[in-house]
Amino acid sequence: MLTPLTILLVTVLSGAMAMAVLGSLWREAIPGVGYWITANAVAIVALLSFALQGHAPRWLSFVAANGLLALALLLVFEGCLRFLGHRARPWPAYAALVLVVLGICYWTFIEPNFNARVTVMSAYHAILYGALAVLMVRGRPAHRPRYNYYFLAAAASLLCAGHGSRGIMYSFGALMQTSLLQVSPSNVAFLAIGILAPPFLAIGVVMLAHDRLAERLERLANVDDLTGALSRRAFLEIGDALLNASLRSGVPVAIAIVDIDSFKAVNDTHGHAAGDQVLAHFATFVARELRVGDVFGRLGGEEFGVLCPTTTAAEAVVLLERLRAQLTASAPGELPRGLRYTFSVGVDQMRRGESLEQLMARADRALYAAKAAGRNRVMVA
Ligand code: GH3
Ligand code: MG
Ligand code: MG
Repeated sequence: MLTPLTILLVTVLSGAMAMAVLGSLWREAIPGVGYWITANAVAIVALLSFALQGHAPRWLSFVAANGLLALALLLVFEGCLRFLGHRARPWPAYAALVLVVLGICYWTFIEPNFNARVTVMSAYHAILYGALAVLMVRGRPAHRPRYNYYFLAAAASLLCAGHGSRGIMYSFGALMQTSLLQVSPSNVAFLAIGILAPPFLAIGVVMLAHDRLAERLERLANVDDLTGALSRRAFLEIGDALLNASLRSGVPVAIAIVDIDSFKAVNDTHGHAAGDQVLAHFATFVARELRVGDVFGRLGGEEFGVLCPTTTAAEAVVLLERLRAQLTASAPGELPRGLRYTFSVGVDQMRRGESLEQLMARADRALYAAKAAGRNRVMVA
């Protein structure tokens, strides 16, 4: 039978399951996971305290139960803040929690009033669920798929609406009831919505954590660790797609293949670590000058590729020539004293119907010509 007591106990079990699933993510050191696991533990204690109503003292089954349930939601919220990189504690929510607990004490011991207790708890939950929904929609990292974040936002919105309507009905006295465990259709209906909260939230936060894991793996596969530029594989893949799109729309695409000059000598003179610093400096220096939509990757060793959509070879020469002149004019302050470097570039523009490999091969030949002509120059194929 679906009584309030069985609903509470089923919710306890689902909270325990959520803890087990979140536990599997503990070792990944994802910000927020610790808060989410703690939130489930706190919620379980709260629900068991509620279940004791009529058998345990009121400070436990009324005050502590309500306070802990409110704290559990706050911990979920704070975990989401941490997950999204916010460091500040949500103090207003903690202050509201204290007020809720004071209210519950008042309406339990001084002037017992079940409706007032339900109203204050529902208002607290509705506001926090609403804030959680907004946080998920507004705080989603721009480059991540929406699905996982919007799932949690939708679940939070639903729970916000459920708690909101419950609070409104009780505050206007539309529902008359004297205890949480009383079997009435409305009470069972609202508790049934409540039963969805832990699994919804748990699935939602696990989906967030999985998105973070996917992001880490994508980064490992697509981004070069040392320079932050795209890996060769990702450069070729994204470059291919860019070429196809440009072919359809008929806009020009320019490519530049850049190779740092006499890099072996940099390593030999200043050490391998200084060589690494040069690679990282070069990548930051170039990336700063690129536009959104340009593709920049490390092709291997000290060789990099730049693909510029809606850019002709002549325009690409202007860009690279400006960078080359800038680097030749003054020594980068970020590098060890006395360390200067230059680079050579081969540039060309996509021809109709050719592949990225063919385009790169021509730019490569221009690069070799630049090296043969004495280095520190930009040449067109
Ligand atoms: P050129 O002007 O003709 O390009 O001469 P170069 O010395 O730059 O070219 P070469 O191909 O002879 O040497 C490239 C050197 O780059 C050799 C290799 O040890 C070094 N190298 C490749 N990858 C890395 C890296 O990740 N870090 C460091 N420090 N050196 C690297
Ligand atoms: Mg070189
Ligand atoms: Mg090279």
